[in-house]
This record gives sequence, C-alpha cells and structure tokens, in this order.
Amino acid sequence: MTATASTGQADVVIVGGGAAGLATAIFTARRAPDLHIVIVDAAPKLGAKILVSGGGRCNVTNVRVTPRDFNGGSPNVVKKVLAAFDERRTVEFFRELGVSLHEEDWGKLFPDSNDAHTVLKALIDETRRLGVRILERRRVVRVEPQADGFLIATQPAGPPPLTNPPTFADPAAPRDDGTWLARRVVLATGGQSLPKTGSDGFGYELARRLGHTIIPTTPALVPLLLDGDFHIPLSGIAQDVEIRVRVEKDRPVRIVGPLLWTHFGVSGPAVLDASRCWHRAVLDQRPVAVTINLLPGKDLAAAEHAFLDLAARQPRIAVATALSSFVPARVADAIVKELGIPARITLANFDRTARRRLLTAILDWPLPVRDSRGYNFAEVTAGGVPLNEIDPGTLASRRCPGLSLVGEILDVDGRIGGFNFQWAWSTGYVAAQHLAELSRS
Ligand SMILES: Cc1cc2nc3c(=O)[nH]c(=O)nc-3n(C[C@H](O)[C@H](O)[C@H](O)COP(=O)(O)OP(=O)(O)OC[C@H]3O[C@@H](n4cnc5c(N)ncnc54)[C@H](O)[C@@H]3O)c2cc1C
Repeated sequence: MTATASTGQADVVIVGGGAAGLATAIFTARRAPDLHIVIVDAAPKLGAKILVSGGGRCNVTNVRVTPRDFNGGSPNVVKKVLAAFDERRTVEFFRELGVSLHEEDWGKLFPDSNDAHTVLKALIDETRRLGVRILERRRVVRVEPQADGFLIATQPAGPPPLTNPPTFADPAAPRDDGTWLARRVVLATGGQSLPKTGSDGFGYELARRLGHTIIPTTPALVPLLLDGDFHIPLSGIAQDVEIRVRVEKDRPVRIVGPLLWTHFGVSGPAVLDASRCWHRAVLDQRPVAVTINLLPGKDLAAAEHAFLDLAARQPRIAVATALSSFVPARVADAIVKELGIPARITLANFDRTARRRLLTAILDWPLPVRDSRGYNFAEVTAGGVPLNEIDPGTLASRRCPGLSLVGEILDVDGRIGGFNFQWAWSTGYVAAQHLAELSRS
C-alpha cells in the first residue's frame, strides 16, 4: 500500500490523543518526519484528562520512578520500558517544549506554571508543529486488518459505539474522513477511569477484536465508601495513617500517607493507593479487610510508652484530650465515643486493661469498606491488555501484526505521584522508535 497525505490514508493512525497518544505521535514524527501520522480522538475536548490531573496542575512525573511504583503486568517489562525513556528524559523533554518542572512532596514533579494547560498546550503545539493531523470528536468504531495495513472506521463522536459497525465490503471504494487506511495502528485509548474525558473502555473492545485478551479491569486510585456513620462527623479531617489491606493468604499491604475523612468514607493519597488492592481482592472473590493504624510508625509498646509518659505529666486530663495529642481532636472524640469510654474519665483512672483496649483499637482501626466511588472518580484503571501479548522492546502486538499498544490500555497502573503519566510518556517513546522504522520500508 502506498500511503499519501490525502484524506483517508496514513502511515500511522493513533487511536486516542491522550498523554500516550500525543507522546507516540511526537516521538514518531520527530524520528520520521516523512511519515503521515493521524490522531483520531473521540473526546469533546482533547487532553481533558491531562487538564484535570494533579488537581488541575498535572503531576507530570516523579523524581524517582522504579518498577515497584507500578502494579499489574511483569515488572521486568515495566523496567525495560521505563529504562528506554526514564523520568530524567521526561524532564528534559518538557524543558525542550518550554515546560520546566519543579519538585514537591513525595518527589512529585509539577509544571512551574502550576497549570495543566501549559503541559497540554506544549504537547498539542509540538504535535501540530510536526505536521501530525489531529481529528477531534471522532470515535474509532472498528479496526480491521487488511493484507497490507488496516481499515479504520470512525464516526462523529457523541452517539455510543455502533453495535454493528460498518463492514468494508469494498476496500477500493472512495472514502471520506470517516474511514482511514493505515499501514500501522496504535491503540492509545486509555482505560475506563473518568469516562467523560473520552476513555470509556471501548478501546478494550477494539483490542479484543484484534485478537487480544483483557485482564479484567477494576477502578484504581479511587476513594472508598464506608458502611456505618463513624466517618460522617469527621468529614474534612486529614491525618497521616498507615493503611493495611489484608487479603486472605497474602502478606498484608501497608501504605503510609495522608488519609482524608469524607462524608462518604475515606480518600487521600494513602487510601487511593490502597484502593486497587481492595478492588482486586473483591474481583477475585477473596476475603479482604482494611484497617488503619492511627499512630503510623508506632506499635503497641511505643504507643503505650507515649501514653504513659503523658499520663505521668498530666494525670487529670480526660482520655479524649490525651488522645488528641496524637490524632486530630474530632477523631479522638469519635474514637472514645465509639469505644464507649466515659467522657469524663481521666488518665489517672484509666487502668491498664482499658488503656490497652484503646491503644490496640487505634493501632488497627477497621475501615468497613462497602465499595469504591467507581470509574467516575478513579484516576486509573487496573487490568487491561496483558504485557505478555506485546513485545516489550517495541510495544508491538504479538497477536496482531502492525498494531501497537501504549499507555493505560495495557495492564499496568501506577501508584499516586506522577507514575501513570510516566508510563504514558515511556510507552509512547518505545512504540515510536519502532513505528519510525516504517519510513525506511
Ligand atoms: C482525575 C485524574 C487525575 C489524574 N492525575 C494524574 C497525575 O497528576 N499524574 C499522573 O501521572 N497520572 C494522573 N492521572 C492518570 C493519568 O491521567 C492517566 O493514567 C493517563 O492520562 C493515561 O493516558 P492514556 O493516553 O493512556 O489514556 P487517556 O488519557 O485516557 O487518553 C485516551 C484517549 O483515547 C480516546 N479514545 C478512547 N476510545 C476512543 C475511540 N474508540 N476512538 C477515538 N478516541 C478514543 C479518549 O477520548 C482519550 O482522549 C489522573 C487521572 C485522573 C482521572
């Protein structure tokens, strides 16, 4: 097939213009400027997820990114992909685009402008500068392999995907913008999180029809809903905790960091990081329990030592007041009430059994998780296309020649801190090196 720059024909069609799709386009076009590259994106607004990320500031990457920051498929594959384009190259890449980054807590890197628009604009400007064509508000409804490439059917975005997408009875018939003929296709369709930004999970269906399997998906980095009403009066309070997720027969997962009490349950970075583990356990129908240590870093001996020290100095204070030296006052009140400790009892009258009961409880306080807030509030999707179905050196599909897969559609999800975008940049880079070889063929 001879690709020309005329409408309907391209060397590479990238399905999805989020972080991974834009990165793939930029790195391919830089390496092979002669290739005709088209991005097709269904969203009402390109890059909407970049704009909402990091609280509207876009946590672009982290100062230190390792395979341990990711869940899902093989850490060796993740390592190889990250090594090809690591966090330092990300910083350099954005500096070249005029976006300098600065470090904040937990090694997170944000644009100096503190505005995600800067990041998105830089990516789109560079994509356009390189001559990549961007088709917005068009949904890819079908990708069909041909002898020498792919036929790609698109529709104006808005209506849901066709249940019976068009067939290609006559590939030689003239086509308009709705159908594309491409030598290579890249699926950069993201996952299912925040579907209103365009990534509604249909990309998995496209991958499945092209021969891939899909590891069942769940929301990840998502707030958790709690049963009961303990959390309700605490809404708005943030505190550091150690979350423990105990899944039958597994070693407990421990995550230290901030927790935010809310009217529906709990949120905050530590909770978001723990949410994946809860969801995967439920998916696998394995019993799971979530608890928090309200005195992170302390065991019973250390907590008791601190409590006795306070009792020696201030024996006449109430137990709730004493507890408020260690946790926020409203949390201390709620705990004392929940455990039925009389409001007026002082440390002097609080015997060893009662003290141990209190301390044991706050070191492993149960969170009665009912569910999560789901994909509408999840930052990322766990599960997706298994890594053993792609070549880790090129991100080319092992199931469908000519297809590549990048970004969140793959079975990799990072913890909070800029890791998911790093995965998007790194996969885009790796896929591009392979796609660029087309210009020589
Ligand atoms: C609220 C929120 C905050 C976040 N904050 C951060 C952060 O600060 N740092 C971080 O590292 N990560 C963050 N993430 C995660 C990060 O945004 C994603 O992991 C990343 O954007 C994934 O990039 P992607 O290109 O693979 O997918 P997406 O960004 O989801 O892009 C996929 C694109 O494909 C398009 N598409 C899908 N199906 C079709 C189709 N059939 N036809 C045409 N187009 C299609 C969609 O319209 C979409 O534009 C956040 C996520 C959310 C939801």
